[in-house]
Amino acid sequence: MNFDVVVVGAGPNGLMAACELALAGVRPLVVERDLTPRTEQRANGMVGQIVRLLHRRGLLERLTGDPNPPRPAPGFMFAAFPMPFGRLGTDNPVYTVLVPQHRVEEVLAERAVELGVQIRRGVTVTGLDQDASGVTLACADGARITAGWVIGADGGRSAVRKLAGIGFPGVTHDRTVSRNAHVALDDAFRTADGMRVPGYGVIPAFLHTRLERGMVSFAPFPDGRVMVNVSEHADVDEDVPMSFAELADAFTRVVGAPAPFTELRPAGMMRRLTGGNTRLADRYRDGRVFLVGDAAHVHSAIGGNGLNLGLQDAVNLSWKLAGAVHGWAPDGLLDTYEAERRPAGERVTMQTTAQGVLVGPGPEITALRSLVGALLEDESALRRIAGLISGADVVYPGTSRWSPEGVRSDARPVLIDASADGRFARVAAPWADRVPVVAAGGGGVSMLARPDGYVAWEGTEGELVPALTRWFGPA
Ligand SMILES: Cc1cc2nc3c(=O)[nH]c(=O)nc-3n(C[C@H](O)[C@H](O)[C@H](O)COP(=O)(O)OP(=O)(O)OC[C@H]3O[C@@H](n4cnc5c(N)ncnc54)[C@H](O)[C@@H]3O)c2cc1C
Repeated sequence: MNFDVVVVGAGPNGLMAACELALAGVRPLVVERDLTPRTEQRANGMVGQIVRLLHRRGLLERLTGDPNPPRPAPGFMFAAFPMPFGRLGTDNPVYTVLVPQHRVEEVLAERAVELGVQIRRGVTVTGLDQDASGVTLACADGARITAGWVIGADGGRSAVRKLAGIGFPGVTHDRTVSRNAHVALDDAFRTADGMRVPGYGVIPAFLHTRLERGMVSFAPFPDGRVMVNVSEHADVDEDVPMSFAELADAFTRVVGAPAPFTELRPAGMMRRLTGGNTRLADRYRDGRVFLVGDAAHVHSAIGGNGLNLGLQDAVNLSWKLAGAVHGWAPDGLLDTYEAERRPAGERVTMQTTAQGVLVGPGPEITALRSLVGALLEDESALRRIAGLISGADVVYPGTSRWSPEGVRSDARPVLIDASADGRFARVAAPWADRVPVVAAGGGGVSMLARPDGYVAWEGTEGELVPALTRWFGPA
C-alpha cells in the first residue's frame, strides 16, 4: 500500500491535518489505534485564533449551528485572574467556543470522509523506517504501509516521535491533584453567574477561582451538564478509584465550606488527574516525518490552549506538505513548519507553566498574585495577554498579519487584486495553477494570503514576485 501522506492518529490534530491535505488536493490515509471514536471527556472548548480559522473553513457552524462569524469573548481568564478583554473593543482577539472535544473529532472525521480521506481504525503503528524516497510504517498486525511522508499526530506518548528518534525534553510536575466530575446542583445554589456556596459566597461560572489552598472551577454547560473541578497539592493513592466523596472532601478543604452539589445519578464523568508534563519536541521534523499537536508538545490544560496550538500546527504543515507532494514546494518551505510552529509551542508551554505557578497554593503565591494582578490592570498588559492566549499576535517571518475577515479561505492561497487595472493579477498569472486571484475591483488593499490565512504580501508590485516564489515556488 503506498500513500502520498499517512497521518498516524485520528485525534483532533490528525483529523484536521487530513482535512487540510484533502482540501489541498492530497488524499492521505489516517491510521488510528482505537477501534471506535473516543467518547472520554477532554477539552471543553477552544480559545484563540483557531476559532476564526474553523469559521473560515465552514467547520464552526457545524460545531455550533451558528452560521455567523464568531464574536470575541468579552471576558476570559488568565491564571485565574478575570480578564475583561471586552475593554479592547474591536482589537479584542480572544475568540472562544464551548464544545466538547469528542464533538470536534466527530465533525472533523465527518468532513475528512466527505473530502475522500480514508480513516483506518484498529491500526497501531509500531515501527518506522525511512530513506530518501519514502517511509515504511510497520503495524502491530504485521501490515506494512509505505508513504511519501508521515505526520505523527499520535498524542503525547507518540510512537512516531520515539521511532523517529526525536527527543521530548521537559519536566514532570507531580504535586498537583486535579479532581473533576459532572455533578448535580439544585437550583437553590445557582445564581445568574455562578454557584452559591453557603459559608463562602459565589464561585463564578467558567472562571478559575484560586484560593489559598487550591483552585476551584464551576462550569454549567449549555447542554445542562454541570462540571466541578478542584485542584490542590496533595498525596493520593492512585490505586484507589476516584469517588464523589473524594471530590466533595477536596472541595471542602480548598473552599473551607461544604460542597453545595451532590453526586450525579446515573454517574457522569469523574476523574482524578495527578501530576502533568510540560514537554516540547526538540525537533518537529525528521526527514520525511513531521510531528503535530500533542506529539510535539504537552503542557498544562489550564486556560484551554491545547487545541488552538495543535490544530494550527496541522493547518500550517498541511499546505506545505501538499506543495511537496504536488512538486511545487520551493526549497526550504517544509522547514518553515518547524521554524514557525516550534516558537508557538515554546510560547504556550511558557505561558501555561507560568499560569500553573500563579494558581498554586500558599502565601508566597498569594503575594505574587497581588503583584501580577495589579500589573494586569494596565491596558497594555491586557492586550499582551490577549495576544498570548489567543495566538493572534503571532506573525511568522515573511508574513505581516493574519488576513482580515472576508478574505476567502478554502485552504488555498489567494491573491486579492484591488488595483483598478488588474495589474497584480497579471503579475501572478504564471502561478494561476496554485494561486487563485480574486479581483476586488479597485478598492481596498491588495494582498497575498497563504492557505493558513497569513498575509505574505501587501504592498508594491515589485515585491509580489519574490513573495509568490518564496511561498509557492517558481512561476
Ligand atoms: C483533561 C484535559 C482537558 C483538556 N482541556 C482542553 C481544553 O479545554 N481546550 C483545549 O484546547 N485543549 C484541552 N486539552 C488538550 C487537548 O485535549 C489535546 O491537546 C488534544 O487531545 C491533542 O490532540 P492530538 O490529536 O494531538 O492527540 P490525541 O488527542 O492524543 O490523539 C492521538 C490519537 O493517536 C492515536 N494513537 C496513539 N498512538 C498510536 C499508534 N501507535 N498508532 C496509531 N494510532 C495511535 C490515539 O489513539 C489517539 O486517537 C485538554 C487535555 C486534557 C487531558
